[in-house]
Amino acid sequence: MNPAQSPGPVAPGTGWPEDPATPATPVAASAAEAAALAASAPDLGELVARQSVCRACPRLVTWREEVAAVRRKSFMRETYWGRPVYGWGDDAPAILILGLAPAAHGGNRTGRIFTGDRSGDFLFASLHRCGLASKETSVTAGDGQQLTGARMVAAVRCAPPENKPTPNERDTCAPWLAAEFRMIAATLRVVVCLGGFAWQALWPVLAGSGFEVPRPRPSFGHGAEARVAGPDGAPLLLLGCYHPSQQNTFTGRVTPGMMDAVFRRAREAAGLS
Ligand code: SF4
Repeated sequence: MNPAQSPGPVAPGTGWPEDPATPATPVAASAAEAAALAASAPDLGELVARQSVCRACPRLVTWREEVAAVRRKSFMRETYWGRPVYGWGDDAPAILILGLAPAAHGGNRTGRIFTGDRSGDFLFASLHRCGLASKETSVTAGDGQQLTGARMVAAVRCAPPENKPTPNERDTCAPWLAAEFRMIAATLRVVVCLGGFAWQALWPVLAGSGFEVPRPRPSFGHGAEARVAGPDGAPLLLLGCYHPSQQNTFTGRVTPGMMDAVFRRAREAAGLS
């Protein structure tokens, strides 16, 4: 396959680096099917494979595939992933990093969350400085980048127009997050929410997973902390962090030092040496 001549989206199991799916991976075509396939996934590998082929949100499927077919001029020689961006990183993490949704020409192009755009550059540089990522950049799937003790997921797994998913799309995607959360809950100690959308999206997942959710819910802010107890009483720390969007990083609303402080706090709270 010549990438210069092949727009996306990528068919499952056709050789894309780190593609978790195969042609046999079941595809959700509705919100009910997404919920059922998320709940019945036998393990994390199958769960992320099912995430990566989901088609439950018609508007987002149309958008992600159109972007993958048309492509940005500067990436015209590349094949775009054009599929949902699945949970990625350590399979038994102490820290979960929860974002909003993949960027049209970032994760939607490369197939890996926060990979291939300026937000990801900012984030991975911080994770590397804080000892959570093996390299300071994440450029493409298959580039050797690895997270240690941390995992990344998006609250909405498909690139939305103008980076704005609808409440219905957020709710349709929530079962994927809830299932992934349950599969990693045994080792999880800290969740870092990148932005207010992620902070808000997490509460229903926690409640649905048997956590005691405080009322009123704690407000989001950079460095905000909230503690919740799981069904077995095990504590989980939620940390707020401004999203590393270009709007925030260019204006200095969030700086490398501010982001490092959050991840160093996460490391400390998670007991990572
Ligand atoms: S946003 Fe989530 S639920 Fe909707 S199509 Fe993408 S992966 Fe499926």
